[in-house]
Amino acid sequence: MGLKITPGSETLRWGPYSILLLTKPSLSEENCYGVYNGQPPRVTIEILDGLSPSITSATMFHELVHAVDESLGLGLTEKAVRGVEVGMCSILQQNPEWARRWLEGLLETP
Ligand SMILES: [Zn+2]
Repeated sequence: MGLKITPGSETLRWGPYSILLLTKPSLSEENCYGVYNGQPPRVTIEILDGLSPSITSATMFHELVHAVDESLGLGLTEKAVRGVEVGMCSILQQNPEWARRWLEGLLETP
């Protein structure tokens, strides 16, 4: 089971923001798997179609870090965004049972 994006019809909510997720057969930027566009509250994230589930999920995480960076004015460099992506995704991938419990706890309603 992997992350599947329904092209053009999936939207993530984040506070007042709405992030439209799109899959594309090719991207405007070469040598990348995802592209973050826009400034909150109007944001799109494009993900290259046909990637493996783990690459799709890591790319989505990367582009969401860009969205958080932009909306909060953090001023993260591409290197910092990539570092957060690789670090967090590696921790989750190397500890899958813990990651499932962590996510269940995060999503548990009080
Ligand atoms: Zn990036």
